[in-house]
Parts: sequence; C-alpha cells; structure tokens
Amino acid sequence: MKIRIEEITEQGIQVEFTKDTSWLSELFREEKEVHFSFAAPTTVSLKISRSGKNVFIHGTLDTSLLLACTKCAEDFVYPLREAITYTLTPWVGTMKRHAETELTSEDLKFSFYDGEDIDLGQIVKEQIFLSVPAYPRCIHSCKGLCPVCGINLNVDTCQCIQRKEHSTFSAIGR
Ligand SMILES: [Zn+2]
Ligand SMILES: [Zn+2]
Repeated sequence: MKIRIEEITEQGIQVEFTKDTSWLSELFREEKEVHFSFAAPTTVSLKISRSGKNVFIHGTLDTSLLLACTKCAEDFVYPLREAITYTLTPWVGTMKRHAETELTSEDLKFSFYDGEDIDLGQIVKEQIFLSVPAYPRCIHSCKGLCPVCGINLNVDTCQCIQRKEHSTFSAIGR
C-alpha cells in the first residue's frame, strides 16, 4: 500500500481503502509481540498533502480486534476507531535509527519515509499497535477468574471468592 511522493499534491489527495483480515495478519506476521487478531476488515480514510518534502497525513482508521481479556482470559471483540495524524519527513542517513520508532501516544506523530514513496501499511500498523490497550478487559467491570478454583466469575459463582473479596475490601478501607 504505497503512495509515490510525487503523486501527492499540496492541496492533498484523498486515499481510502478497505483491507481484509488476511492483509492485516500479513502486515503483522513478523512481529513477535502481537496479542491480538483481526475480527473485521480495516477501513482507512486519509487526506495526504505535501509541502515540499514534508508529507502530512490526516484521517481515520476503523477496524475490530479480537483481544484476550487480561482478567478472565476470554476473547472479545474490541472495536477500534482511531484518528491518524502524521507528519513524515525524508529519511536522512545520519539520523539516529531509534528516532524512527520513537512513538508516543500524542495525537501528532512524526515519522520518516525512505526513498520515493510512503508505505501506508506501516502507518496503519503503527497506529494499531499504539491503539491496543496494554491490559484489555472484556468489560470494564470484568470479575476475572477465581484465584482459588479458577472459575470464570462473570458467568459463575463459587464459595471461595466471597472470603477473598471481603479481605480485599477491608485492606483498601484501611
Ligand atoms: Zn474479562
Ligand atoms: Zn472459587
């Protein structure tokens, strides 16, 4: 999914595409730290403009991920709608390489392009990585698993947890 720099006008071009889950899986294939899969195709809508060699990207990304809840371990669908705002500048060989991957969760991100085109797949990938919660929960109030018997407390109850919860509350209240 590459766009040639020379095709980007100052007024900007509109780029929209929808990619199926296999394209997305391929995009993440070489990454080791991927704890999700895709539950739906991804739709990307971008306005890409240029001022000299600087490229500006604004738009949105829509998809759904399948995440495992960190409390109860159940898979759940996590809808993702994210704004994409990037400024890309040409890669200069003397730049420190780590600067390229130095990403923050701020709205405005800086990155680099190398050569005559920019790879929108890489931008989609970065944006998805940044959007995945560190500790996903199926629902905010997920009760998790009983640490004693391992039962899923969202769907079942057991006797052991009652004592456990009571002691947790008293510890917080102190
Ligand atoms: Zn859960
Ligand atoms: Zn239990």
